[in-house]
Amino acid sequence: MRFLDHATIRVAAGDGGNGCVAFLREKYRPNGGPAGGDGGRGGSIWVEADSGLNTLYAYRHRRVRNAGRGQDGGGKNRHGPAGDDLILPMPVGTVIRDTATEEFIADLTEAGQRELIARGGRGGRGNARFATSTNQAPRRAEDGRRGQQFELTLELRLLADAGLVGLPNAGKSSLLASMSAARPKIGNYPFTTLEPILGVVAVDIDRTFVLADIPGLIEGAHQGRGLGLEFLRHVSRTAVLVHLVDVHERDEEAALSDLEVIRAELRAYSDELVDKPSLVAVSKADLPGVAETAQALRDRLRESNIHVHLISSATGEGLPELRNAIVAAIDTLRSDRAEESQA
Ligand code: GDP
Ligand code: MG
Repeated sequence: MRFLDHATIRVAAGDGGNGCVAFLREKYRPNGGPAGGDGGRGGSIWVEADSGLNTLYAYRHRRVRNAGRGQDGGGKNRHGPAGDDLILPMPVGTVIRDTATEEFIADLTEAGQRELIARGGRGGRGNARFATSTNQAPRRAEDGRRGQQFELTLELRLLADAGLVGLPNAGKSSLLASMSAARPKIGNYPFTTLEPILGVVAVDIDRTFVLADIPGLIEGAHQGRGLGLEFLRHVSRTAVLVHLVDVHERDEEAALSDLEVIRAELRAYSDELVDKPSLVAVSKADLPGVAETAQALRDRLRESNIHVHLISSATGEGLPELRNAIVAAIDTLRSDRAEESQA
């Protein structure tokens, strides 16, 4: 299940204004020479990535967007003013395509990024521009050019707020399924899912976060082998990572080494990923021996100030606490960012 927000809109840049045919009329020069001004250029349409937006809602409700027309040129060599440009704010992560050709037009990846989407038409030249030595009274002017018009498809991938990482079989898919309405495949299907699977986790009636099951984290993922790269790209956008470890019939040493394998993968991809806030959760608490091993792991990680959650997707044990810890981590990051942007 991929969570996408879509909209289809029509954009029309402004047409150019027409050039003017006019002549100067002066008292002693009844045909005082051509003086028709140029038409103004039509306004263009731009899109701009705005970090304050997170849906395409506005575009599903107002689907037609026009920029201003250029005004016609006038007599006495007056040029028509240009039409106003139009800037359409869109969420970071919006991908824009031409609906008719499916041609890729823009990918808004960074806040503030601005792209020209539809160019305004050029203004037509007035007759003053057509005077030559042999034709000093041209009656010719140009019409403005049409502004570009397109039907555009906008697509926004929902961004994960939190990501689940862990070796195959750690229980990531099961955890996502038990916390959200997403229905990922459970069990040994290492190559069936090519996309991170996103689920919306409801905390209460007006609070949700997006959790991603990131099953592609395998050794060598950072080299683009296997499924890893796309997943890691997704992981790099999350506010917090949940490291899930399976300790059933294993000891805390094995769990620590699992955590290290995943950390090494993250580090190989980027330092920023290893430094990302993370939580550790031991899965399958309902199975015998798991709680004891989780306690031993907790003791080993206490010095590093890492809290170890114990959860079971089968019975629901520990899930509310884990959910609250994820929300707290997301909120901490958001308030840090808000402070940074105010400073
Ligand atoms: P993933 O590879 O990390 O996505 O792991 P899966 O969610 O596919 O789970 C791997 C296996 O562990 C499956 O057979 C699951 O049924 C099992 N499993 C996952 N969570 C639990 C749990 O909480 N309790 C028990 N008993 N089994 C679990
Ligand atoms: Mg899975």
